[in-house]
Amino acid sequence: MAWKVTPTYRTWSHMKSRCLDVNNDTYYRYGGRGITLDPRWTIFKNFLADMGERPAGTRIERVNNEKGYSKENCRWATRKEQGNNTRQNVRITYRGQRLTVAQIAELTGLSWNTIYYRLNVGLDAETIVSRKWKKKTPRTHCAKGHELVAPNLLASREGRRRCRTCSQSRDRQYKATIRKGKYERLRLKN
Ligand SMILES: [Zn+2]
Repeated sequence: MAWKVTPTYRTWSHMKSRCLDVNNDTYYRYGGRGITLDPRWTIFKNFLADMGERPAGTRIERVNNEKGYSKENCRWATRKEQGNNTRQNVRITYRGQRLTVAQIAELTGLSWNTIYYRLNVGLDAETIVSRKWKKKTPRTHCAKGHELVAPNLLASREGRRRCRTCSQSRDRQYKATIRKGKYERLRLKN
């Protein structure tokens, strides 16, 4: 059965992607750190049966932030209710200051990925920050040998250095795939 893309469906699809799709930008904060998806919930029908339609202005919340997505651990919460319970709200006490992951990233030049990783393995703030110079020197070329200098240098939100040439080429390929799909569907119809 094909489902109409309702707000509930969109929530379900994003949730599934965060947990299972390694290419999702936020995978490292979900599937990547062991946040699971109840196998029943890989099927939208089951998710809808358990949770009901998403009330306007709410998001899906895990009651226990360390546990996965399941009927037992999820509820629809308003943004305000949820704000107190998300990963974004992690504060790290560093030399008497309560800092967010974003602030630590800015202070040290470490990527969000690295900071979350170090937090998850249980390092304290001082260690997280002091290890920053053990980071390998930034790469000067991408995997395909393009030089990583402006204007060929892109920085992702998490502070990764990316190659503009490669990223644009991936983009073009992706769009071409979509165009091809549309064309194929049209051809089948006629
Ligand atoms: Zn490249």
